[in-house]
Amino acid sequence: MGKTQKTAEASLEHLRRVFTVPEAPDSTLARLDAEISQNLHGFLNERIVATRRSLADIEQDFRDARIPEQPVFVSEQADFLLEKVVAESVHTASPAFVGHMTSALPYFMLPLARIMIALNQNLVKTETSKAFTPLERQVLGMLHHLVYARDDAFYAQYLQDSRHALGAFCSGGTVANLTALWVARNNALPADGDFEGVAREGLHRALAHYGHADAAIVVSRLGHYSLNKAADVLGLGRKSLHAIEVDAHNRVDLARLERVCNELAARRVKILAVVGLAGSTETGSVDPLAAMADIAQAHGAHFHVDAAWGGPTLFSRRSRRLLAGIERADSVTLDAHKQLYVPMGAGMALFRDPAAMRAIEHHARYIIREGSRDLGSKTLEGSRPGMAMLVHSALRILGRRGFELLIDTGIDNAAWFAAELRRAPDFELTSEPELNILTYRYVPAGARQALARADAGGAARINAVLNRVTCDIQRLQREAGKSFVSRTRLRLPAWPDEAVDVFRVVLANPLTGRRVLADILHEQRALAATPPVAALLAELDASSAPAAPRRDP
Ligand SMILES: *Cc1c(COP(=O)(O)O)cnc(C)c1O
Repeated sequence: MGKTQKTAEASLEHLRRVFTVPEAPDSTLARLDAEISQNLHGFLNERIVATRRSLADIEQDFRDARIPEQPVFVSEQADFLLEKVVAESVHTASPAFVGHMTSALPYFMLPLARIMIALNQNLVKTETSKAFTPLERQVLGMLHHLVYARDDAFYAQYLQDSRHALGAFCSGGTVANLTALWVARNNALPADGDFEGVAREGLHRALAHYGHADAAIVVSRLGHYSLNKAADVLGLGRKSLHAIEVDAHNRVDLARLERVCNELAARRVKILAVVGLAGSTETGSVDPLAAMADIAQAHGAHFHVDAAWGGPTLFSRRSRRLLAGIERADSVTLDAHKQLYVPMGAGMALFRDPAAMRAIEHHARYIIREGSRDLGSKTLEGSRPGMAMLVHSALRILGRRGFELLIDTGIDNAAWFAAELRRAPDFELTSEPELNILTYRYVPAGARQALARADAGGAARINAVLNRVTCDIQRLQREAGKSFVSRTRLRLPAWPDEAVDVFRVVLANPLTGRRVLADILHEQRALAATPPVAALLAELDASSAPAAPRRDP
């Protein structure tokens, strides 16, 4: 019994030690720090994307459902993390990792992020965040200025005014889109006489009160799937998200958009929002925002622009004209963990009208009182970290000019890569890069000729084989671990009835030079010559052969 007590005593002592910041510089903490830094440095400077170990194999290290009974030493856990997790994670900062919207971080994020973790502020309330609250409001103001460029008097009045909000900071583009559409829904169905508004009464009574047969959101077919989630969560249902066909440049087809809006209006369906894309996730295309603003206005609909990816293009004096019309949006989504280069978990919904967010304000007596400065009354999420601190740091340390250079470099690299692909006899550029995203596929000369000769049925068969070639090359390249491109399915103007598989390249890492891109094509050519892929391509040559007698009756 005495022994048990001693253990409990020792454990509490141990716990107290774990919760105390060590003072001595030569402490366990310093040693741990050094070891982790050295290891991370080694990992981040490796020029590979991932090891060859399969996920199924890695799962074996993470099968135990029981929580360990006895504590393990911090050093033991650190060793486990370095060996089993860090070593088997994906090197998203690699210059050859060009398949996703997650890329390198500037090095200063690592030390500055420690401030955030050490202070552990909670932005839900000023009582738990103090200076972090005005800082977050300033960050929202800076990005509001980037998009809407209102005058100094406007920002002097609203930036720190607790009764208004220029936007909501959140964990990413998904929550930003949801927040914007939530505001759109509530403002479209407000309180009216005895009716207390959709926020209190729900969608069913709101539609009945206003005499709407239904409610809808309209967006191009390339809209991000977070919009589907938003339609679902907001009680509209995913079928209420109307996907509009795109033109040959992957921009929303305006004539179709207008037709669908008119049809919805004729059926007494309330259009809650028209959503424009400023940098679609798959092709980086930008919708004609100014014309969409006109259509939204004509239908009395909220105009939202999903600029999660492309928003920072506004930093570029040369390219910001691509987003002309974004300043007419009622709301804009920005993802800070994409092209603002901060760690994962930061996004924003900005609102042109500083009073727009009143439609979703919630108050709680014990925590967020009316008229308080607490940001928690206007955000979907409750407790939130001080991520705005890192956005603030990036904006100051890189400056507008730094961001402009990053954006211009990515766009230039994409244009250069597109030119290489156009010139190559064995690759086909499948979407022109408008920003820094492009798609392409491997189509050797034989397949190209066969496609040119084929009728619709023949083309479908050839494309089916090419799809397998694309998927195989992409998988083999990923498994080899030297570089990474992603893949997606697109409908191309030449084959409008069937989607084809294409490689997708996202160029946001400033360390990704032209040499790296040339090497990626080189590797893909080599993979096309390996036995499994070569066999597929041979099948194609054989199947296109019977076409010859047909031309010779
Ligand atoms: C990435 C992205 C989103 C979703 O953002 P998350 O941060 O992944 O939640 C929404 N829209 C677009 C256009 C995106 O590129």
